[in-house]
Amino acid sequence: AKKAGPHAYRFFEPRMNIALRHFVETRDALRLALERREFVLHYQPQFDLHDGRLIGVEALLRWQPAGEAHPRMPGVFIQVAEHSGLIVAIGRWVLREACRQAALWREAGWLDVSMAVNLSAVQFRQPGLEQDVIAALADSRLAPHHLELELTESILLQGIDSVLATVSRWKALGIRLSIDDFGTGYSSLAYLKRFKVDKLKIDRSFVSDIAHDEEDRAIVQAIIQMAHSLNLKTIAEGVESAAIEERLRTMGCEESQGYFYSRPLPAAELDALVAGAGST
Ligand code: C2E
Ligand code: CA
Ligand code: CA
Ligand code: CA
Repeated sequence: AKKAGPHAYRFFEPRMNIALRHFVETRDALRLALERREFVLHYQPQFDLHDGRLIGVEALLRWQPAGEAHPRMPGVFIQVAEHSGLIVAIGRWVLREACRQAALWREAGWLDVSMAVNLSAVQFRQPGLEQDVIAALADSRLAPHHLELELTESILLQGIDSVLATVSRWKALGIRLSIDDFGTGYSSLAYLKRFKVDKLKIDRSFVSDIAHDEEDRAIVQAIIQMAHSLNLKTIAEGVESAAIEERLRTMGCEESQGYFYSRPLPAAELDALVAGAGST
């Protein structure tokens, strides 16, 4: 315990509150998990809504502690990873592993594979991120246009100029960019114009009910129209039924991802699907 002040000890006594204890324990376990290589990526396929073609996958982080039957989902640890700063090291691993897998699939014949990787706002607060991305591409020999980085609206809002510079350099290299969970944050039309992303990913909270909810339908339609007027593509996340898929198609949405097609799966379980993508 640190002697930061007269009250500092209180936090480190057995009575420390449950939330803080949970944070400390999870943080320490995450640190060990990194050392022990307990992280894995699952991949969720994304499809072209017009011809049904497999266009890419999104890499989603899983934590598989030895001896546990099921992997732990990011919902239960990603916040601790962010608040402890461990997401920087974990995110670096995610980038490398995702690029490595994309390169493998490309070698296996999936020539236009697209690998989407989630970036946390915390990763942008350390200076090494740009270099991490470039190193992950170089070491895996993956061409930049196979990589798509998913940014959140909160990333665009922090330290605008440095983020803008980073994003511009990535764009110049040919890396593609999308805005994740679109519609849930605060990005304005002005941001979208400045950041020159390629794609908006319409948040699941708007998508999941469009077969029944007229207001959600109006929101999704508005997002798609706005995206098109800015020359951006749209992808819907959380597509769980044929009815939702059909609505999205008639609304002009380009791409689609969700349990209707597939849950996120280990790479090996996608090989059959990927083989089909390569042979066309
Ligand atoms: P996200 O980026 O919005 O990812 C989509 C989440 O929705 C995933 O949850 C996915 O499994 C789930 N999902 C996909 N299709 C459907 C569907 O049809 N219905 C429903 N109900 N859910 C669906 P997951 O894998 O638990 O990830 C949760 C969040 O954790 C992600 O949300 C992302 O914010 C974060 N995350 C995951 N992997 C990473 C990573 O490598 N780095 C960072 N920074 N964050 C990550
Ligand atoms: Ca995402
Ligand atoms: Ca999302
Ligand atoms: Ca989401």
